[in-house]
This record gives sequence, structure tokens and C-alpha cells, in this order.
Amino acid sequence: MAKVTDHIKNSKGTLFSLEILPPSTGESIQKLFDNMAPLMEFKPKFIDVTYHREEFVYKKMPNGLLEQRSIRKRPGTVSICAALMHKFNVDTVPHIICGGFTKEETEYALIDLNFLGIDNVLALRGDPIKGQKSFEATPGGHRFAEDLVDQIHHMNKGVYLSDELQNPTPTKFCIGVAGYPEKHFESPNLKNDLKYLKQKIQNGAEYVVTQMFFDNKKYFEYVEKCRAEGITIPIIPGLKPITMKSQITNLPRNFFIDMPDDLIDAIDKCRNDEEVKNVGVEWSIQQAKELVAMKVPCLHFYSMGKSTAIQQIASNLF
Ligand code: FAD
Repeated sequence: MAKVTDHIKNSKGTLFSLEILPPSTGESIQKLFDNMAPLMEFKPKFIDVTYHREEFVYKKMPNGLLEQRSIRKRPGTVSICAALMHKFNVDTVPHIICGGFTKEETEYALIDLNFLGIDNVLALRGDPIKGQKSFEATPGGHRFAEDLVDQIHHMNKGVYLSDELQNPTPTKFCIGVAGYPEKHFESPNLKNDLKYLKQKIQNGAEYVVTQMFFDNKKYFEYVEKCRAEGITIPIIPGLKPITMKSQITNLPRNFFIDMPDDLIDAIDKCRNDEEVKNVGVEWSIQQAKELVAMKVPCLHFYSMGKSTAIQQIASNLF
């Protein structure tokens, strides 16, 4: 299997890749396979699988008190990566996050991936868990993605946490990180955000995948600013087709992004979600065509469990 950066190096044109969510707890993997199968026709070079940490829910007890329970709604990132890789012979990229992991647990997860032959990871901090105002590092875990990148990079050099190991095997992870054309929501400004993006790269990151954006100008300006800061690694644009009217409020709220007037006006005129999906697909196709014309390394589609919109887009492009 190949590294994301090798796929980019070895390709003359723009690649196609996907991000998917693991199935909800209790759902079968077959549904995911059935969703993915039609997309394989377009030969995605890699598929990212997101990681979802625990959430706290409160259950009312017979005595009237509330009991806090920790649940994970979408476990299985590593096994889904392995299953997709074997089923479709495609590279998979598990997302690894800082939140909820000690450094030792991170090392164990990376050892599992290495044994499975998964050589790509996207290293992220993770968001605050519901109820937390800001991200709190797990005791014994990492505070920022740059520290996680550093740990993975050290394993690539054969440096594990314990210094008592005799000749530990170096891993060979290709490390991707997140970038935010409209800046990360906690950053005071883009320049400051880029300072820490550079730190992730200095620590070993080899490519960037951007947060979704709906106005290509934001991506082009971001790439320009990154290049001006001396960031030379590939910056892969992330695209999300809108499929439901509710997303014009949910996506900005959850991902801290803006939507262009023309897109909102077109969606406002739609009478149902079928019409919204048509507008969303057409918008993504136009975005994608312009990005391909500008020779971006790869188009990375956020599927969020919906594959038909991406099939429609891919059939126009690949
Ligand atoms: P970082 O790079 O650590 O940055 C977080 C913030 O801290 C930024 O504002 C940065 O500027 C700042 N910062 C960094 N270093 C320092 C420092 N030394 N001192 C002060 N400030 C600093 N979340 C999930 O839980 N699971 C996923 O699967 C997932 N996948 C994602 C995929 C992509 C492509 C993207 C763009 C995001 C994804 N996220 C995911 C969301 C991500 O976890 C959040 O956006 C999170 O809030 C930040 O993660 P990061 O890796 O960008 O953090």
C-alpha cells in the first residue's frame, strides 16, 4: 500500500479521495460497504476514516438523580480502515486525535496500525467534548496536534516512549494534518494559526487537508499565505456537497465557515431537500472544476455518510 504523498508525487493529474465516518454503534459494516462500492468506480486513492471520542450523556435514575454515562457513538475507526483496505484494496487514513488518549494509548494504537499495514494517519487535536468550554488535554496525553505529530515522527525514527526497548522497529507513517482556510476558530488570526501549522510541519507533517470551504477564493488565498510563510507541502482542498437545507446553519455553526451569498440564495429558493441536493451537487462540481483547472493535488470529499451526491460529482469529474 502507498503513502498519500507518494500517490500525489506519482500522479500527473488531480486525485480523488474521500472522508467517511465509522458506522453508528450497532450498525452493520455491510451498509458502509454498500455505500462505498459505487464510489470505488472512480478510483479514490485513499479513504480517511474519522475518529469520534466519547461523549457524556445523563440518565435519570429511579431516585431522581442523574447518572453520567460515557458513550461512543461511532467506534471502530481502526477496524473500518483495515476492513476497507482489504475489501477494496484502497489505502485508508485513520484519524488519530489527542483527546481521550494518553501518550501510551496513542503508541498502542499506532502499533496496531503498523501491524495492520496502515501507513497513513491524519493527526489531529480533536474538539472539546460536549460540556467542555475549551479543549482539555487528557492527563498524560497531548495538548496540541503538533505534539502528536512529534510522537508519530519519533516512532518513524524508531523512538518509542520507553527508552529500554532494544532496537525497536521504526514505523513508516505518512502524517497528514488539518488546515483552516478560514482559520481555526480558536486562533486570534490566520497568521497565528499558520505559525502553529508550520510547527506541525517542522515536527513531521507531510501534507495538509483543509477544512471544508464553499468559496474557492478562500482556498487560493490560504495556499498563497501558506507559501508566503514557507509552507511547501501539498495542501489538499476539502469539499462538502450540501444535501439538506438545515446544513446552511449547521455547517457554519459546527465548522466555523462562511457560505457565499449566491449559494445561500440558491438554496433559499429550493422547495425540498431533493432540490437542495441538486444545488449542492452543482456547486461542488463548479468548485471542483475550478480547483482541478488550478492543478490542486487532490479533491478530498467529506461524505458524512452520504455517497450519492459524491457519486454524481465524481461522475462529472473523474
Ligand atoms: P491544532 O493544530 O492543535 O490546533 C488547535 C488550535 O490550537 C488552533 O487554534 C491552533 O492555532 C492552536 N495552537 C496550536 N499549537 C499551539 C500552541 N503551541 N500554543 C497555542 N496555540 C496553539 N476531529 C475529531 O475529533 N475527529 C476527526 O476525525 C476529525 N477530523 C478532522 C479532519 C479535518 C480535515 C479537519 C480540518 C478537522 C478534523 N477534526 C476532527 C476537527 C479537529 O479535531 C478540530 O478542528 C480541532 O479543534 C483542532 O484540531 P487541529 O488538529 O487542527 O489542532
